[in-house]
Amino acid sequence: MNLILLGPPGAGKGTQAKLLSEAHRIPQLSTGDMLRAAVKAGSAIGKQAKAVMESGGLVSDEIVIGIIADRVSQADCINGFILDGFPRTLGQAAALDKLLGTKKKDLSAVVAMSVQDEELVKRIAGRYTCATCGSGYHDDMQKPRKAGVCDKCAGTTFTRRPDDNAETVRARLMVYYRETAPLIGYYFAKGKLSTVDGMAPIGDVTKAIEAILARFSTGIKAK
Ligand code: AMP
Repeated sequence: MNLILLGPPGAGKGTQAKLLSEAHRIPQLSTGDMLRAAVKAGSAIGKQAKAVMESGGLVSDEIVIGIIADRVSQADCINGFILDGFPRTLGQAAALDKLLGTKKKDLSAVVAMSVQDEELVKRIAGRYTCATCGSGYHDDMQKPRKAGVCDKCAGTTFTRRPDDNAETVRARLMVYYRETAPLIGYYFAKGKLSTVDGMAPIGDVTKAIEAILARFSTGIKAK
């Protein structure tokens, strides 16, 4: 199963990709996570990407396509993968088609997650994660049961992404509408697109995505 989760920042792509990755035992490929790891490691790619990411812009197609081409070729992707945050431009989508073509693979489905803009800003500006296990929290919407202690691993150190602030969120949303939203039409034209209501509770969104995957695996097209 090769799945793309498409949607604006804060739509819940990462949350759903993680859950689906565990349920289907296929990796979550997040270009954002890979780029953050490159920035942390201080690699050449990380040095090129850092300032662009902090301003909410997009890293060049050349860099992210190279990262994904390498990652998709690794052994754990043999049974499929979940793309979270890639492709983000029409150029990336075309490169992905070519890449999958050379590997004789196809996309199973593209799921667009829709969420109202004000909700996205609220979600992103308040979110943070446990530095130990990566569990996600939010200042108002999802506090840990005990303040300052992770529910899952009892870790006490938390991190916030430098680009998760109100000003950068608006820049990221503009970039999403300009560069990434056209992919909705691109995949609709290919008969691959389905949409889920990303405002619904997390478990309901997962169920909706699973229902789409079941439809595609039985050969019934997108609705
Ligand atoms: P994300 O974690 O998906 O929100 O990505 C964080 C940041 O990484 C984005 O705002 C971009 O600067 C960069 N990034 C992640 N994925 C891509 C991509 N597919 N194309 C270009 N830039 C990306």
